[in-house]
Amino acid sequence: MQTMISQNLREVKSRIARAAQRGGRRPEDVRLLAVTKTVPIESIREAISSGQRLFGENYVQDAAKKLESMGDLYYETNWHFIGHLQRNKAKLAVQLFDCVETVDNLKLARALDRHAKAAGKRLSVYIQVNVAQDPRKSGLSPGELPIFLTEAAELSGIDICGLMTIPPWDPEPESLRPWFKSLRELRDKTNADLGHNPELRELSMGMSQDFETAIEEGATVVRIGTALFGQRECSIGS
Ligand SMILES: *Cc1c(COP(=O)(O)O)cnc(C)c1O
Repeated sequence: MQTMISQNLREVKSRIARAAQRGGRRPEDVRLLAVTKTVPIESIREAISSGQRLFGENYVQDAAKKLESMGDLYYETNWHFIGHLQRNKAKLAVQLFDCVETVDNLKLARALDRHAKAAGKRLSVYIQVNVAQDPRKSGLSPGELPIFLTEAAELSGIDICGLMTIPPWDPEPESLRPWFKSLRELRDKTNADLGHNPELRELSMGMSQDFETAIEEGATVVRIGTALFGQRECSIGS
């Protein structure tokens, strides 16, 4: 039987492919990250059995419970942390996640670096940038990025592989295009100016409402919850 989730996955993937084509990009250069905050474990299992492997969670504690109850399936999946990370949860986050997408200050970067080294692992991180300089959102302002990268360069336990953004909410995807474009330009300019080595590659941007616009502007990771799993009962974390 075709489940709702597998059908949603197929639809979202074909929308991703078409948006990539419109942007002159290859569909395989855009990864779908399934956002599972408030989503029950049965639905996550369903997504896995439909072939989904990349997932995102917003809360370390919730994630710990879910991931524990997944058993061996945990080892077949990749998990990104996409919520606001408090430093006292850094150790657990390093244990559970393959990537933390929301690093926006050096103290947090240093804590992740320390815990990653202690765990004998190299943690992927993205830097969260507040492209719109929206006072209600976290993230570095674009102007702070170069100094941040210079100071973080010595942290060998973390691999800074890209940028992430959450633009101000707007029901009209087209009005978010300038923010997506500015994150791409920031990445490209940073790579050109700093010769950041290795290069910043990833751009995590775009959610259920606006992922097609984000892909046209260069997203390499789109974070999608509602379009896969349906409306959340309460809109925490969004
Ligand atoms: C909840 C959330 C998403 C997914 O949002 P949808 O609109 O349900 O697709 C993406 N990114 C972050 C950071 C989130 O918190």
